[in-house]
Amino acid sequence: MLNKALGSDYGSLEDASFIARYQANCHCGAVRYEVGADPVDAKICHCRDCQALHGAPMQWAAIFHKRDVRLTAGFEHLRFYNSENATAARVLPCKVACEICGTPIADEGRNMWMAFPTLFDFGVPPQVPEAFKPTCHIFYSMRVMDITDALPRWAGHKNKSASLEGNR
Ligand SMILES: [Zn+2]
Ligand SMILES: [Zn+2]
Repeated sequence: MLNKALGSDYGSLEDASFIARYQANCHCGAVRYEVGADPVDAKICHCRDCQALHGAPMQWAAIFHKRDVRLTAGFEHLRFYNSENATAARVLPCKVACEICGTPIADEGRNMWMAFPTLFDFGVPPQVPEAFKPTCHIFYSMRVMDITDALPRWAGHKNKSASLEGNR
């Protein structure tokens, strides 16, 4: 089965108790997955790795337990990249992308799946559920643009780095 390929930490297609709440897919549609829960947190990351790997000033990630994530299509099209070693390998934590369209799918951590909510189907125009809304900015010390919202901002990781509340 497809999800055995992703690993037993993940939700299974055979699990009848898994109720899909949201669907996500890459730009070309080859890679599809669903989640059975709301994210446990959501953040905006301004780190240099995210800037380079996403071709964007920042990255929006929503964090899920792996058991709440299950792939429905396209495992064979997943491409893995470990940024710490700069190697195309599934060495956790790593980046997950679609090899066809290049869409970044998620950051796969050791325990968690950091989904990119921009892949989720929230309707047109998107109605972003409350649980997906970012709670903070992380690695704000690396920002390439200032943000004027009211969210907390951290120099590095949330609750583990200096608060940059003065830097608005
Ligand atoms: Zn794709
Ligand atoms: Zn980052």
